[in-house]
Amino acid sequence: MDDTSSRVTDTTAITHTTTQRKIPPMCQHQPPCPSADSADRESARLVAHHPEQGWSLLCNGVLLFEDTGELLPDGQIIAPHRSQVMTAA
Ligand SMILES: [Zn+2]
Repeated sequence: MDDTSSRVTDTTAITHTTTQRKIPPMCQHQPPCPSADSADRESARLVAHHPEQGWSLLCNGVLLFEDTGELLPDGQIIAPHRSQVMTAA
């Protein structure tokens, strides 16, 4: 009978330190615009505007679609929220 020695398999535990580094914002405004994870992210400035394609890029990396949907730089999708009425001051 072959006695299988209990080999300790060397589990190279790679400690995945999830370095939640934030994507460096493109914003170079002073004072800086609201970041992409801010609730006020839409008030960042436009760096690219493509109405013919239906999207705009804000300086904080947020893609703003004409249906008010958003795509955050980390891939998160914000559903359209048409309730927000643009009131001209
Ligand atoms: Zn900015």
